[in-house]
Amino acid sequence: IVKFQDVHKSFGDVKVLKGINLDIKPAEKVAVIGPSGSGKTTIIRMLMTLEEPTSGDIIVDGTNLWKMEKKGEMVKANEKHLREVRGDIGMVFQHFNLFPHMTILENCMTAPIHVKKENKEDVRKRSIQMLDRVGLGDKLNNYPSQLSGGQKQRVAMARALVMRPKIMLFDEVTSALDPELVGEVLEVIRDIAKNDDMAMVLVTHEMDFALDIADKVLFLDEGVIAEQGTASQVIEHSTNERLQEFLHRFR
Ligand code: ATP
Repeated sequence: IVKFQDVHKSFGDVKVLKGINLDIKPAEKVAVIGPSGSGKTTIIRMLMTLEEPTSGDIIVDGTNLWKMEKKGEMVKANEKHLREVRGDIGMVFQHFNLFPHMTILENCMTAPIHVKKENKEDVRKRSIQMLDRVGLGDKLNNYPSQLSGGQKQRVAMARALVMRPKIMLFDEVTSALDPELVGEVLEVIRDIAKNDDMAMVLVTHEMDFALDIADKVLFLDEGVIAEQGTASQVIEHSTNERLQEFLHRFR
């Protein structure tokens, strides 16, 4: 459902990604690990269409994100094309990004109604279901400021799920949380991973969690995928020295 073909990304003179090739199948759960600055967030941002590759192709569900066909020729995608492909992708950020002036129910309802033009009552029902699922069914009319960090992050997940994306992206969603709140958020992700058939890409430093839920783990190092395989191959059995050194810091 996701394909990266020789994707490069530079910021000015700095080469951040140096030829990424990647294939994610529908329903596959992929964890991305690697040292700070290795390019993990850049991969996620490119999938979310927040960042354009310098070269190479990114294809989601058969559609090239950054190019479109016009009169038989591939040209740079326009805003309308990008908006359409974004509808298939849900993202949860490190810093929640909830709308502070809306209740948590309104936070979940706004995109499906205003971006996807869906029926308001259907969206309300689905939003309540999803908030229930993340354990916040009794807080529908609370505002984000009245919630803990873990609760806010669970709202962010419900909000992404209401959009029924084909791919969910999680970018270090627990790293801004107090340690005692990490568990409840991982529990929700685990529930989504075990029960939903959407593809998931998670940037995480939680190695035990990756071992538990990921079908595939990628170790990103200095802009290349230095190692990939099943979670057990990469996290428990790799002989790559850089990877061992990295894991040593996190386990
Ligand atoms: P971390 O674990 O610290 O979040 P990361 O692996 O997610 O790191 P990225 O955030 O993808 O790494 O960043 C990779 C490199 O690209 C870093 O050196 C960063 O400084 C640089 N970079 C990212 N975004 C920009 C930007 N908009 N302009 C310039 N440089 C950038």
